[in-house]
Amino acid sequence: MDMAQHLSETELSAKILRHAVPKMSELNIPVTPDNYAVWYEYFKGMNRELKLAIDGLLDKKLEFTPEVCHSLYKTYIQIQYPEVIENVQIETQALINTLLAKIASMSKGTTRFSVSLSDFDKALKGKPDPTVIQTLVDEVSNELDEIIAANTEMDKSLTIINEEVGALKTEMHELKSEVMTDQLTSLNNRRAFDKEVISHIQSFNQSNMQSSLLVVDIDYFKKFNDNHGHLIGDKVLTYVAQALKNGVKGDDFVARYGGEEFVVLLPNTSHEDAHKVGENLRRKIASQNLTIGKEKRLPLGNVTISVGVSTLRPTDDKDSYFIRGDEALYRAKSSGRNCVIGEAVVETLI
Ligand code: GH3
Ligand code: MG
Ligand code: MG
Repeated sequence: MDMAQHLSETELSAKILRHAVPKMSELNIPVTPDNYAVWYEYFKGMNRELKLAIDGLLDKKLEFTPEVCHSLYKTYIQIQYPEVIENVQIETQALINTLLAKIASMSKGTTRFSVSLSDFDKALKGKPDPTVIQTLVDEVSNELDEIIAANTEMDKSLTIINEEVGALKTEMHELKSEVMTDQLTSLNNRRAFDKEVISHIQSFNQSNMQSSLLVVDIDYFKKFNDNHGHLIGDKVLTYVAQALKNGVKGDDFVARYGGEEFVVLLPNTSHEDAHKVGENLRRKIASQNLTIGKEKRLPLGNVTISVGVSTLRPTDDKDSYFIRGDEALYRAKSSGRNCVIGEAVVETLI
């Protein structure tokens, strides 16, 4: 089935929800964000391999155990299409917002209850099961339209529905932060950075506020791993991540770009000031004598970082902005490491 044609995002999202939730309930699959992402994609019908895999399981009447569910999520969503997680989140959020808006406008009405809403209320007071969410979107949505038209007021049932929707919203929020967070260091990850840098460029274009970027890379980190092992290497990465985060202001945005490379977005910061921020971070990290072990007796020496600085230009997109910072970083490496280097000066054409 291909549901994606001729429907607005909210309509599509509602339609998928109406199919996915009862099916999950029938198969005894809990409606968690991960599982929902899988079944959302299945009913959307665009992810062929996922569809083949699920149809195969259904044909063979195999049970959707937590292990099977997790493996579907991992193989077909997390690895193949990480963007799906975000899409499900955004679309479902839009749907929930529509419902919440309806509920809010209803609570100002009179006190007439509709029969099906009272039933729904009872169902919620019993053992809430996944079909509750389907009922929410399907029946209640229609019901609400009618009640709004009749200008009636709801109270108790709506409070409960509101809570249900709120819980789903929280789950979606958690899913979002998982997608945007680096597991090892708990910093923002590359996806989060890509998003954030676009919004920096937009505000720059609107306000002309200066904005700068630090591209940071740990020096000789390979050697560090070779000498002390990967696990200690991981700890050092986490330490550097924290040192960067603690060394900047609340508005600044620190992310792990990949491996042992980090980026720091500095809004409202000139090139000169960004250079100072980079230099403070560099000095602070280089001056730490690292130790490890219960009584912190095993000395690791110190790690140093090299930093490239670029400052946003009106012609920049996210790639050109990053590339200049990365080139500056490269020059910091070739001038001996453990230093901060600014981007090349703009050449003026005469
Ligand atoms: P340079 O000063 O030129 O940056 O040298 P380098 O050794 O830091 O750079 P190179 O790119 O040669 O090696 C980067 C190393 O970072 C390779 C890998 O061992 C290590 N690394 C990348 N990601 C991780 C990680 O998640 N954990 C650990 N422990 N090490 C990592
Ligand atoms: Mg390095
Ligand atoms: Mg590197």
